[in-house]
Amino acid sequence: MTTPALDDRDGHIWLDGRFVPWRDARLHVLTHGLHYGGGVFEGERVYDGHVFKLTEHSQRLHDSARELGFSIPFSVAELDGATLELVARQGIGDGYVRPVAWRGSEQIGVAGAGTSVHVAIATWEWPHVFSADAKNSGIRLGTSRWRRPAPDTAPVRAKAASLYNICTLARDAADAAGFDDALLLDYRGLVAEATGANIFLVAGEELHTPTADCFLAGITRATVLDLARELGIRVVERDVRPEELGGFDECFLTGTAYEVQPVRSIDAHEYTVGRTTTALKEAYTGLVHTTNRTAALR
Ligand code: PMP
Repeated sequence: MTTPALDDRDGHIWLDGRFVPWRDARLHVLTHGLHYGGGVFEGERVYDGHVFKLTEHSQRLHDSARELGFSIPFSVAELDGATLELVARQGIGDGYVRPVAWRGSEQIGVAGAGTSVHVAIATWEWPHVFSADAKNSGIRLGTSRWRRPAPDTAPVRAKAASLYNICTLARDAADAAGFDDALLLDYRGLVAEATGANIFLVAGEELHTPTADCFLAGITRATVLDLARELGIRVVERDVRPEELGGFDECFLTGTAYEVQPVRSIDAHEYTVGRTTTALKEAYTGLVHTTNRTAALR
């Protein structure tokens, strides 16, 4: 059986404050956000019926909108509440949540002034990003010819839809070349991130990750940095040059969807799924479930 398209499912989507039948959550072709990229979104993960780091994600949706010059017409608490009600209504135990906000269709000039802001939230059962085998033994990354832009070229701190055309181009090229995902360098040629996840590298007993000064500093990245410190692993945030990639022992990606995802190779450089990656992967899995059990008891 093929999975139905995302516009052809049962249940409800929360749209501008109301729960509307899933198939009716549509917008007009003359929507400003569609033409000029005025949209921001989030990706959240449901474990055991609870949304991990929900308020951090709702807050980031607000922060991303502010970076793009508009404001979300619902408070962070209202977004949290709508999300929880939706997850319960849809009966999601292990799933994904996609909040999105965009400029509406009042006018179609480049200026954003005069456009209303719309918000939707949808949730569905969890689709695995990579196969079970890749999840354990690691994915293969190829370095992309596309680069993360400079902070004075694009709103790099926002989780903005417009920034993802680079990711789609990079991901499609990586897939076509037989890789699982792409590694993107930044405008200076430094190692930045993957198309939907941050990168960590292990050298001996140390964990290194690029300084997040021109790409999304992920919520999972922050969680894993905290876990590493709790486990007594020395963490180094610094500029990482691509010429150094051959000198690391382990590599993994972090993201809401990717979780802690081992990397087995970047181009011709090979890595093992070693002690540090395994310890952090287990600690992260433990945390997402414990946090949720704690939330359930409240
Ligand atoms: N970078 C990019 C480009 C992403 O799309 C994501 C996923 N949101 C991340 C990093 C990781 O962010 P998070 O851990 O908050 O999901």
